[in-house]
Amino acid sequence: MPLLNRVMNAPAAWQGELPVTNRYTFGLAGEKFFRAIKDEGRILGTHCSHCDHIYVPAAIFCERCLARLDEWVDVGTSGIVDTFTFLYVDLDGSRRETPEIIAFIRLGDGGLVHRLGDIDPNDVEIGMMVEAVFKPAGERIGSILDIEYFKPQ
Ligand SMILES: [Zn+2]
Repeated sequence: MPLLNRVMNAPAAWQGELPVTNRYTFGLAGEKFFRAIKDEGRILGTHCSHCDHIYVPAAIFCERCLARLDEWVDVGTSGIVDTFTFLYVDLDGSRRETPEIIAFIRLGDGGLVHRLGDIDPNDVEIGMMVEAVFKPAGERIGSILDIEYFKPQ
């Protein structure tokens, strides 16, 4: 049978299971960054003394000068809202009554994209100070969602 006919007659989908095993790691910097969130409720960055730049989330190499970064800094749990948006549609496509508020929160010279909570959407402003609200220590798993949201400070 010519190749084109075989391709045209090929099934579009196969049923069954394909066993896949893999392990995702956070890498050297991510491991320490998420462990600090989980175990200590702290947000860490790494400082490049050559560029005087604090990476948040922590990085193991400076993306500007490529220096290896081993100076860890606690950047605190408060940051500044650099930008934000309102989400009115959930993952399942349904419309939300109240928007989820997603912001970029500046910490050090970087920052995190995360939810804002305990705030009326009309009161959100660029430049406002917000503080991380962590899950209780026993419920943290080493994820960015160990921070439930950021609230106004
Ligand atoms: Zn650098």
